[in-house]
Amino acid sequence: MTLTAATRVLTLLGDPVVHSASPELQNAAFRAAGVDGVYVAVRCAPDDLVGFMRGLARAGGGGNVTLPHKEKAASILDVRSDAVRRTGACNTFWGDEEGRVRGDNTDVEGFRRALGAFLEGSAEGARVLLLGAGGAARAALAALVEDGVEEILLYNRTQDRARAVARRIGGQKVRVVPVARELEGEDFDLVVNATRLGLEPGDPSPVDFGKLSRAGAAMDLIYGHHTTGFVEAAEAEGIRATHGMEMLVQQGAASFERWWGKDAPVDAMRAAIAERQPG
Ligand code: NAP
Repeated sequence: MTLTAATRVLTLLGDPVVHSASPELQNAAFRAAGVDGVYVAVRCAPDDLVGFMRGLARAGGGGNVTLPHKEKAASILDVRSDAVRRTGACNTFWGDEEGRVRGDNTDVEGFRRALGAFLEGSAEGARVLLLGAGGAARAALAALVEDGVEEILLYNRTQDRARAVARRIGGQKVRVVPVARELEGEDFDLVVNATRLGLEPGDPSPVDFGKLSRAGAAMDLIYGHHTTGFVEAAEAEGIRATHGMEMLVQQGAASFERWWGKDAPVDAMRAAIAERQPG
């Protein structure tokens, strides 16, 4: 695709952005779908976020927002999706014909789609252990509650953060577990790792699967070229486990759909991620 004066500009705004997979993911999708757009990563200071988002959206573009700006981005939007309202975070923005900045948090949809593919169905009625209380955990929690799970036990290293997340998103279905010891002997259909533990090769698993009475399946939101301690520990106990690659692809696919109003070429996106070199 030749870049012309009509080409739409989509950006990733964050700090840092240098390790992001989104430029490869989205440019591969734009090429495969034959849409006239280009996707670039821009390191952005907090004070510059509002100018970038409003300017790009009004110019017919848009983009993604990543750490540390997802909460601030939610406050800049004129029109918020339900997922933004529930999680307090925005990772995708674009402009509409009235000049308004619209936004969504496609981590919620990305998690839901990836989980559905992994479980080969919805999580309805499941008993879930969710580890973490950051942005990824909030997205997973919103999707799990919406999908009608039976109960979620939320465990995070910093208990107060888990309590704040449960208050905001969980409602009656979420119980915060103050100490890991209280997980011993518990029975779960699904265990989700939404912590950063596992980003570095050699990081331990954030949960001791051997001390649970049962775990039906294990999903790590971390993606990379190494097998995480969480996935390794689950598989060592004979538990079916997966990593965060499909969620990454699916959140990107949902963003693509918001910008272009058509289905995303997910196979091309998966291939782009698989070909990506570590780094
Ligand atoms: P975040 O907002 O910074 O939250 C980090 C979480 O990890 C917090 O719950 C934190 O606990 C916990 N944590 C950090 N270091 C820990 C340690 N040494 N031991 C135990 N817990 C620890 O980050 P995030 O945006 O939620 O991202 C979390 C992970 O999800 C990252 O690895 C990211 O790559 C992944 N992710 C994947 C996708 C995808 O599409 N697959 C999308 C988003 C994020 P405290 O509260 O105690 O600090």
